[in-house]
Amino acid sequence: MAGRVVILGAPGAGKGTQARRIAKKYGWPHISSGDIFRSHLEERTAIGQKIESIMRKGELVPDELAIEIVAQRLAKPDCAEGYILDGFPRSLPQAQALDRVLAERDEELDVVILLEVDDEEIVARLSGRRTCPNCGKIYNLKFNPPKHDMQCDKPPCDGAGLVHREDDREETVRQRLSVYHRTTEPLIQYYERSGLVRRVDGVGHDLDAVERKVQSVLAALGAVQR
Ligand code: AMP
Repeated sequence: MAGRVVILGAPGAGKGTQARRIAKKYGWPHISSGDIFRSHLEERTAIGQKIESIMRKGELVPDELAIEIVAQRLAKPDCAEGYILDGFPRSLPQAQALDRVLAERDEELDVVILLEVDDEEIVARLSGRRTCPNCGKIYNLKFNPPKHDMQCDKPPCDGAGLVHREDDREETVRQRLSVYHRTTEPLIQYYERSGLVRRVDGVGHDLDAVERKVQSVLAALGAVQR
């Protein structure tokens, strides 16, 4: 199995954390459309300025833009043998665009991992989530707090201040969940028709246990480390 993986689930289901772990283990690039958009915001690019208020409200940026940035990323040489896509596709037009990109290269997705977590757990997780802007490590003030108040404890960031993403505030989280149910959830049926979906229970705070479940899905499909 080459390793063309989509990780699907609500915002806060743990897609980023699991995708990062799997990418590291298998040597696949981790492609997070949210991270790409956030770096446009930080660098204040033309795209960043266009999407700032949309992201702050927890809405989706226009499909064409999401498709363009992901298609550009997938064209890079490190994606030749596979990747893990996190946060993309998020709508039917995006899934259809991804199918076209794959078909042009005579490729197919290998699996769609669906991380399942209920909405109330997500609200509790995201409103306590804090992220290191340097290394991307994710903490939770309640379930996985940093050793020192609001500081990353992972070298080399030691002491870097953690940030609360503006779109992780409760009101915005609820808005993002409603966007997920309305626009992204239909993708589950879309991919189920091709038999690609594997459901993984993402409830609870034992990230290693969730990772083991994801690993066993990949192992059953014959994924091999690079
Ligand atoms: P995430 O980090 O994946 O939760 O994404 C953060 C925000 O970036 C989302 O709430 C959207 O505003 C935007 N975003 C990320 N990926 C996409 C996508 N595939 N389509 C549209 N908007 C996206």
